[in-house]
Amino acid sequence: MNLILFGPPGAGKGTQAGKISKQFNLQKISTGDLLRNEISTNTQLGKEIVSLIDKGNFVSDEIIKNLINKILSDKSLFNRIIFDGYPRNLNQAKTLDVLLKKNNQKISIALSLNVDRETIIKRILGRQICEKCGEIFNKFFSPSTDYTHKCGNKFLKKRSDDNEEIISSRYETYLKKTLPIIDFYKDKKLLHEINGNSDIDEISTKIRDIIASLETWLYNLYLYK
Ligand code: AMP
Repeated sequence: MNLILFGPPGAGKGTQAGKISKQFNLQKISTGDLLRNEISTNTQLGKEIVSLIDKGNFVSDEIIKNLINKILSDKSLFNRIIFDGYPRNLNQAKTLDVLLKKNNQKISIALSLNVDRETIIKRILGRQICEKCGEIFNKFFSPSTDYTHKCGNKFLKKRSDDNEEIISSRYETYLKKTLPIIDFYKDKKLLHEINGNSDIDEISTKIRDIIASLETWLYNLYLYK
């Protein structure tokens, strides 16, 4: 099954996508990670987008479409993707429908993590990402320790767009451009809304239950067909 995780920046999409991917053998696809990888490996695309990302602005829909097209035509990822940070506007959501159809796939669930602005700011200001394993930590709420993180603290990095000034504009952009897509998935009866203010394990249990109930449903459908 393919899934979409929605939520404002700092909602915990990356953390939850990481957990779900392990539990259900899915692959997390974060367009933000794909773009940051272009920047850190200094590709032509990376050079073109670095200032957009640092300012918290969107990269063009065309660039995103090309990235997603590659992912959806990868047979090893067939029907086992968690989209994190994509689609980000209505045009991207409509394009995703076209690309899914072309590749004989579909979205089974769209999960929206609802988090208030204050929590977001705290989460973003504390966010640290391990450059080696990609794991996400928060120095206030879920710090990297010897017990939770085998790489140690020396690979922990802050994202260049995780500062107070940019957070507000990324949050406003989310409200203006991304929130309207929620209705798009509500109309398709795919949307599940989750309180994303609770702690990481509580949220991940809720998500796991939603996915597991859908899996059972799909299994029964297949069994009694
Ligand atoms: P994220 O890691 O999802 O917070 O994304 C980091 C940055 O990458 C965003 O602020 C945008 O500049 C860019 N980005 C990520 N995903 C998209 C997308 N689907 N469409 C446009 N820009 C994106």
